[in-house]
Amino acid sequence: MKRVVARGVHQLPVGSHAYLVDGDEGVTLVDTGLPGHVDVVIDTLAHIGRTPQDVTAVLITHAHSDHTGSAAAVRSATGAPVSMSARDAVVARGEAGTEDPPLLQRLGPLSSVASRMLPEADPVVVDHEVSEGERTGLPEEWFVVATPGHTSGHVSYLLDRMGGLLFAGDAAMVDRHGRVGRGWVNAGSAAVDASIHKLAQLHFRAAYFGHGGFLSNDAAAAFRRYAAGLG
Ligand SMILES: [Zn+2]
Repeated sequence: MKRVVARGVHQLPVGSHAYLVDGDEGVTLVDTGLPGHVDVVIDTLAHIGRTPQDVTAVLITHAHSDHTGSAAAVRSATGAPVSMSARDAVVARGEAGTEDPPLLQRLGPLSSVASRMLPEADPVVVDHEVSEGERTGLPEEWFVVATPGHTSGHVSYLLDRMGGLLFAGDAAMVDRHGRVGRGWVNAGSAAVDASIHKLAQLHFRAAYFGHGGFLSNDAAAAFRRYAAGLG
């Protein structure tokens, strides 16, 4: 279900959650969902009185096809540049195989289970390779936080607006009690904990994820509670 999760922030049902973020300087899209969902993006733009040309940036958290699947189509339809980490860009371009998420790594040393379970995505042209501490490829008010674990090049995006909005992709999840944790996407993985710990040190009011629910308020505190329990 498509819904407004904060003022100007639209959560799109595209096989995972993508987020269309409206702002004075244009529209930013965080992730693009499974292949075949460009229409959801276009329809939402029309619904909020925007055109495809109003999209100024497509920010990708990581190269799994439930996040990058519609990136090539969105780029064609909007002309907006696509940004992601250099590490995951290699996968998105089709130059390397899909990296298994921790959920699948548990199944053992099977090579690229993910590439068989996730649908194939068209190769994506990556216009900007983003990295923490640099502004390249980012609209005003947006920042990159490197959050490896779910994939080696996974990044989260922090929007410095309304007290801070974190777009965490698959770096973590929140359960129905509002507790932040690894989530089923990262089941059995300790590697993601360092990234959750890192996010816990940042200031943000709300947090939005690639799957499951979100946190509208005191989101950083929920990350800190998880981090404090790591021991
Ligand atoms: Zn993923």
